[in-house]
Amino acid sequence: MRLAGAIDIGGTATKIGIVAEDGSVVKSETIPTSPLGEPIALVDAIVLSLQPLLDAEKAAGKSVAGVGVSVAGFLDSERSAMIQNANLPALRGFQLRRALEERLSLECRLEVDSNAAVVAEYRYGAGRGATRLLGVTLGTGLGGGVIIDGELLHFTGECAGDLGHIILDSKGRACTCGARGCLEAMVSSAALSERAGGRPVREIVSEARREDPLALKALAETGWWLGLGLASLSPVFSPDRIVIGGGISAAGDALLNSVRSSYRVHASPGFREKTRIIGSSFEGWEGMIGAASLTLNPLS
Ligand SMILES: [Zn+2]
Repeated sequence: MRLAGAIDIGGTATKIGIVAEDGSVVKSETIPTSPLGEPIALVDAIVLSLQPLLDAEKAAGKSVAGVGVSVAGFLDSERSAMIQNANLPALRGFQLRRALEERLSLECRLEVDSNAAVVAEYRYGAGRGATRLLGVTLGTGLGGGVIIDGELLHFTGECAGDLGHIILDSKGRACTCGARGCLEAMVSSAALSERAGGRPVREIVSEARREDPLALKALAETGWWLGLGLASLSPVFSPDRIVIGGGISAAGDALLNSVRSSYRVHASPGFREKTRIIGSSFEGWEGMIGAASLTLNPLS
């Protein structure tokens, strides 16, 4: 089976690995991302982790076709650098593709993380068979990608636009973009953590599994805002299915039940009936899987 290297550069962590053509993760590692740090240092750290994985495949007689790179921000039209990204300012304008290709001696393909994630869901996950698929990824920020009739929507920054910055509450939490009460500001890891007394997301998710009341309340409130945001986005994209991914989605029904009930309250009757909201099964690896998959088989 054909293989690709995969990198998913997020606002807090960078995931690195090898992904097969069927979407399975063959190897994976996580390193921290320093959002304000020197880009070369991040590239060097990525190469230091990825090169041994690539070498091991080569030693086993397997070839790696290229490297898919998922990035948390808009791309230039040549897909060589990020041009806008609230959560990774140090990488803005940096020639990321060239820096990686020079070091890895493999072709690297950059993709907006929200596109990469929705492709993973569409090909291998909860989005299979959807006609109009909206995929949202929750983490340090919130991104969204859209696939309609098998094609990725590209109209702002090589993706569906900054869906996380629709404004839900003009007096809400301050957002990294400079506005207030954006969907992202209301449902990000930081917002969830704040609602749970400053506990990290991983801890909130595991405590919710043990029925901890504060963790459950924080997830329910976050889900309520997300349901409102998805109801606001629905008239724009008219999705028949919405898949929710990213680290926070590991909370499962503790988050999703609240998203669905808020969506039922806020969305118009047509969407309430036709749109299914499903959690991702990739536990946050969807960006890496989608970026690698697009390297092996571009979407039409
Ligand atoms: Zn914003």
